[in-house]
Amino acid sequence: MSYGPDHRVDDARKMSIEAVATDLGIMGDLKRAGRREYTGPCPACGGTDRFGMNTAKDVFLCRHCTPDGGDVIRLVMLVKGCDFPSALEILCGAGQVELSPGERRRRDERRVKDRKAREARAEQERRNAIAAARAIWRAGREATGSPVQGYLAGRGIGPELLPVPPPNIRFHPALKYMVKAGSEWAEVHRGPAMLAAMHQLDGRFSAVHRTWLDPSRPGCKIEIERDGKRLDAKKGLGSKKGAAIRLFTPEGADTMVVGEGIETTLTAYVSGVFPNAAFWVGVDLGNMAGQMRRVPGKRWSGIPDMADARAFVPPAWVRRLVFIQDGDSDPRMTRAKLESGLQRAMAVRPGLWAQIWPAPKGADLNDLVMGAPA
Ligand SMILES: [Zn+2]
Repeated sequence: MSYGPDHRVDDARKMSIEAVATDLGIMGDLKRAGRREYTGPCPACGGTDRFGMNTAKDVFLCRHCTPDGGDVIRLVMLVKGCDFPSALEILCGAGQVELSPGERRRRDERRVKDRKAREARAEQERRNAIAAARAIWRAGREATGSPVQGYLAGRGIGPELLPVPPPNIRFHPALKYMVKAGSEWAEVHRGPAMLAAMHQLDGRFSAVHRTWLDPSRPGCKIEIERDGKRLDAKKGLGSKKGAAIRLFTPEGADTMVVGEGIETTLTAYVSGVFPNAAFWVGVDLGNMAGQMRRVPGKRWSGIPDMADARAFVPPAWVRRLVFIQDGDSDPRMTRAKLESGLQRAMAVRPGLWAQIWPAPKGADLNDLVMGAPA
């Protein structure tokens, strides 16, 4: 009788991390953060700002305990405080069992079926989210003359600089702010909001970006609290991965400026530093950069993981790509992500000239225009 490599390792790695986490009893502490992400306190070190789980890739990460991340086996080791063989036993039972070829095939087929069903569910959820995003976007009104202009003016982008906001920005007078409480959705706020349409590289609408405003305080977002916690006044809905908010795309442009936020990117536009350039918003650094490659010993490699097929890349007509570096987040991480994104763009678009345009330290570009001390 021959024993090959322990088939239980393969079996374990095909398990859904969500199912394993449920069996481990840690799901109750985790919160959904996006369709395929959960975050919450680390079940090992208890840190509340560092643990996350991705159900699409069946991996998790605690920035303290497992900075390089891990799979379901590693998760069992972390939660149970046990070694690899014990984790394998918890997941797949004791010892290496020799399976008959028929049983082997049946188990493999069932796993493929389960995975396909999960993927189909995820795809359906994605389509539903895009449909909901489109409905919100269609309910939006022209931003010109609306509280959106008041908000932008409060951020230093007044009508004298920007008489007509770009068409991919709209106003919604009474947008619901929903949060999930258990399995139910609850409305925690309803009010005026700035909407922005997000499009994929092929031009398809794929998400709506929402910023809830406080019209009584120009330039300010609404402050919403729930259970003593401040909620983010900015939220996306739909499929934002690889998408961008296209603020301006002038005919014949060969330069593209991409910033993280609408306000920052509009500020770069009105600054006049890049005449006749296209101005797009990447919404967040992760979306601008795509996945980074893991390099042992380095927290942020700055090297793109080219296997990330859905990452943002500029259109083929872009000859010069400028990423705006906001000064308000960790500069080393920001820099690594921006470099990674630019390298990806250069690899996909040979001959592209790429550049990081840094906003001075401690303030984002918009704060600078607003006259905050640099
Ligand atoms: Zn931890």
